[in-house]
Amino acid sequence: MKKQIQQIIDAVKESQRILIVGHVSPDGDCFGSMFALGMELERQGKYVRTSAGDGLTDKSNFMRDYLNCCAAKDLDEEDFDLVIAVDTADDYRVGSILEPIFKKQPLKISIDHHMTNPGFSDINWVEERSATGELIYELLKEMDAPITVKTANALYAAIMTDTGNFIYSNTTPETLCLAAELVSIGAEVQMLAEEIYNKRSLGATKLMGAAIDTIKLYHDGKIAIMYADYAMIEGCGAVPADCESLINFAREIDTVEIAMLVREINQTRYKVSLRSKKYADVAVLAGFFGGGGHHFAAGCTLDGTMEEVMEKMLMKAEELI
Ligand code: 5GP
Ligand code: MN
Repeated sequence: MKKQIQQIIDAVKESQRILIVGHVSPDGDCFGSMFALGMELERQGKYVRTSAGDGLTDKSNFMRDYLNCCAAKDLDEEDFDLVIAVDTADDYRVGSILEPIFKKQPLKISIDHHMTNPGFSDINWVEERSATGELIYELLKEMDAPITVKTANALYAAIMTDTGNFIYSNTTPETLCLAAELVSIGAEVQMLAEEIYNKRSLGATKLMGAAIDTIKLYHDGKIAIMYADYAMIEGCGAVPADCESLINFAREIDTVEIAMLVREINQTRYKVSLRSKKYADVAVLAGFFGGGGHHFAAGCTLDGTMEEVMEKMLMKAEELI
């Protein structure tokens, strides 16, 4: 057994009250990993709380009855023996409300697949895999946990999300074998694809159009920038979480190598999502601005006006082209 897995199993054995946290704007890998692990720890008789910064999005609706997920502010008064951060590349990624709660816990564990993870916990299991869900599946097997249909759904959702429905370059033979195991246990492939990919509100649909309208190409069409601000989101009747996959429209343009989506956090702070296709390492680009992620998908947050942030990102991206 891997050293970190043994350490995690030992830490869990010695704990009664366990908090599982994920990153802000939790995606399928984040909430799927949190829920799969949380359900097993609850089965082991632990008191379990899960929380991800600004709450879950509609894409996790299929799991709402699996386990409770509470708002970070409601955790304030609670004490835990152990906190486990999943799919969280850096401590600030848990968000400003959870960060102080995370930091004051007596024992911290990270289970993550971002190679830019600096190892901010006491026990850090950081390994390159398609999704954190793959690591959670390995951990559950080592714990001899029963893999139920609910667990299989949560883990399949995790792996499906981070592989872009099994089409990104991180889709390895092992990934497909794990997914096949989950399907044979009962993971509901069609339901999960419907929930995560093929369903959106009218507002989210209109936001796609509005965001596509903002796309501009630079550097012989190799760099694309698009944006979404609150005025657009509200005008379309969408919610901020609907921005999650907008970047793909810029990424999918045939000439584009680096795609960037700039999202308003407030009028002087912007979140940038980065994607690349063949060679540019956007984890390096994000890292330059204090962010991180993977080679082909990364993110960072910058201060300034929307125009300043776009300008800074564009200048640095041009160096990678
Ligand atoms: P997204 O653009 O979908 O929000 O994020 C793409 C990838 O980059 C994800 O794996 C995400 O966890 C990571 N990421 C996004 N923003 C940040 C950030 O500010 N810091 C770090 N370290 N990773 C980030
Ligand atoms: Mn992930």
